[in-house]
Amino acid sequence: MPRGYNVLVSHRATLIPGDGIGPEVTSAAVRAIEATGVHIEWERCELNEEVILRRNEVLPPEIIASILHTKVGLKGPVTTPIAGGFPSVNVALRKALDLYANVRPVRTLPGVRTRYNDVEIDMVIFRENTEDLYSGLEHEVVRDVVTSLKVITRVASIRIAEAAFSFAAETGRKKVAAIHKANIMKLADGLFLRCCREVAARYPQIEYRELIVDNASMQLVIRPEQFDVLLLPNLYGDIVSDLAAGLVGGLGVVPGANLGEKHAVFEAVHGSAPDIAGKGVANPTAMMLSAAMMLVHLREQAAANRLRSAVEKVYADRRHLTPDVGGTAGTREFTDAVIAALSPATVAV
Ligand code: ATP
Repeated sequence: MPRGYNVLVSHRATLIPGDGIGPEVTSAAVRAIEATGVHIEWERCELNEEVILRRNEVLPPEIIASILHTKVGLKGPVTTPIAGGFPSVNVALRKALDLYANVRPVRTLPGVRTRYNDVEIDMVIFRENTEDLYSGLEHEVVRDVVTSLKVITRVASIRIAEAAFSFAAETGRKKVAAIHKANIMKLADGLFLRCCREVAARYPQIEYRELIVDNASMQLVIRPEQFDVLLLPNLYGDIVSDLAAGLVGGLGVVPGANLGEKHAVFEAVHGSAPDIAGKGVANPTAMMLSAAMMLVHLREQAAANRLRSAVEKVYADRRHLTPDVGGTAGTREFTDAVIAALSPATVAV
C-alpha cells in the first residue's frame, strides 16, 4: 500500500530542458512527476547552445539566481559550443553552486537485455564534482607542449568521502571502494586516498577497500555484482560512470544527482545525443529516474517509489521500450506506459 502524501504541499524547482534530446526527455519526466500527484511549480530556464552563443556566456546569471532561489533543479543535457572556447556548462554549473557530489545509481532494470542478465547489478557511484583535471587549468608551456593541472584538495576529498560513507550508512549499504591511481599520481591520488581512509575509519561497520582504476575497470566488467558504493575523483568518476552505464543497458537508463550543501541539480548521465535529437526515440528513463531522485530529495519518498516501480513495470513488460534498450517504442509511448503503470496514490489531506 503506497504511503500517503499531502496534496497541499507544493514545491518550487528550476527546470532546464537543455538541447538535443533534453527537451524531449525532460518533458517526459515532468509529465511523469505530475502523474504521481506531486505538485511542482517550475521556474523554466532556457539554456542551450544557441543561448550560450547569442549571449556569449556559458551560464547566464538568471539561471544561477533561479537555483539559488528554488534550491533544486531538474536539468536536461546542454551542448557546450565547440567554437568560442567556452568552458563546459555542467562544470560551470557545478562549480558556481558548489555541487560537489555527483551521485549515480547504476542498477539492473528488469527486461533490459544486456551481457549481464545473469547478475544483479546495484551500485552507487560517488564522483567528486569540482576539481581534479576538470580544474580547467591548462597551459601551453611552449609551442606543442601543454600541461593540464590536476587539482586534488583535502577539503573536496574529505567531503566526497563523507558523502559516500554517510549515504552507505544511511541506506544500509555494506561496502565502499575508493578508486585511484596513487601508484602513479602519488601526491594527488595519494592525498585523495588518505582522505578516504580517514573518513572510512569513522565508519567501521562499512567494509572499505581500495582499487587502482585500471583494475577497477576490469573488475567492473568481469564481476560487476561485487560492487556496492564506488568513491572516485572527478575524471575516473566520469569514465567509470559511462562504463557502469554500459553494464545495465546504456546511457539512456542511468540517472544522476549533483548535490551541494544547500542546492541540488538532478540530471541524467547522458549528453544531448544529437544523433537522435528530434526523432522522438530518446529514452527518457534516465531523466525519469533522476526525477525520482529529486522527489526523494524533496521528501516525496512515496511518489518517488511509485515512479520507480512504474518504470520497472514497463521494463518488465517490455512492450513499450525505446530502441536503445531493444524496443520499438518512441519517447511518448514509453512515457504514456509509465504513467499508465503508476499505481494510484493514497492522498492524505
Ligand atoms: P556528452 O559529451 O555531452 O556527454 P556524448 O557525445 O558523450 O555526450 P551522448 O550525447 O550521451 O554522448 O550520446 C552517446 C550515445 O548514446 C549516442 O549514440 C546517443 O544516441 C546515445 N544516447 C544517449 N542518451 C540516450 C537516450 N536518452 N536515449 C537513447 N540513446 C541515448
